[in-house]
Amino acid sequence: MSHASTSAQSPEHRPQSGGGSLEFRNVVKEYKVRGAQRTIRAVNDVSFTLSPGKTIALVGESGSGKSTIAKTILQLERPTSGEVLIDGKAVPRRGSALKRYRKDVQMVFQDPFASLNPFHTIEHHLERPIRLHGATSPGQSVHERVLELLERVNLKPAEDIVGRRPHELSGGQRQRVAIARALAPGSRFLIADEPVSMLDVSIRLGVLNLLARLQREENLGVLYITHDLATARHFSDEIMVMYRGDVVERGPSDEVILNPQHEYTKTLLAAAPDPDKLGSMRDEVRASLAASDS
Ligand code: ADP
Ligand code: MG
Repeated sequence: MSHASTSAQSPEHRPQSGGGSLEFRNVVKEYKVRGAQRTIRAVNDVSFTLSPGKTIALVGESGSGKSTIAKTILQLERPTSGEVLIDGKAVPRRGSALKRYRKDVQMVFQDPFASLNPFHTIEHHLERPIRLHGATSPGQSVHERVLELLERVNLKPAEDIVGRRPHELSGGQRQRVAIARALAPGSRFLIADEPVSMLDVSIRLGVLNLLARLQREENLGVLYITHDLATARHFSDEIMVMYRGDVVERGPSDEVILNPQHEYTKTLLAAAPDPDKLGSMRDEVRASLAASDS
């Protein structure tokens, strides 16, 4: 992802297509307002490109259109206009090509309680994507792959975890299972929609550090959706600020935080608990990164 331009929606910021990227191009998404004749524009001509090994943070208050962008990428919603492209080609609407896309692009949802089926074991949750996408190494059994995934997200001993059901795990452990499931197909891009906002404050950094480590190790392109500027700054190469469907500001993370141009970004920063907190939060993040991610 280029760090060259910081202005919102400027022509020189138009992303390039191709080259192993996930591109969101001029996407508009309108919803009909129930019981009324009008529509609301949840996403208004938004463009960006996710590249392997890079994280873009999508920041904005509730209702600004962040989850609509996530759902549109995942093909859970169709854009009103504009398109989503992978490796320079429009995302297929159906069939085996759509299945291949789902292998490449996975999502971690906000709510680890709702995203796992209470009736199924952890093993069952992980087996499905592995079988569906044939995602085992040569000579590796599905069970071995399940154990490997659990260890990758620091759920150990994995043999103790596989037989459990979601309610037997903590919120943080469940979110680690959800992350393992997102990695299971051998994904290249991860869309994380407020992945820690429902977790206890004390365990959020551990989960974010885990995501950061996995991203490095697997060279994932990550869209990190959050309303927390401190973690957006620390964990992302670039920040896009959304306000009522528009990307109002974008640029390298430090630049957006230290030298905000748009009034809305300034307001968001002013609303953060304490301007110095952004600095001390970074130290906290660094310290815990240095320690471990478990
Ligand atoms: P965010 O994730 O930033 O909180 P959303 O993308 O969920 O925002 O929502 C953006 C806007 O679109 C909001 O005004 C929301 O009410 C509206 N919206 C989202 N989903 C739907 C839907 N399925 N039908 C109608 N309106 C929707
Ligand atoms: Mg949302």
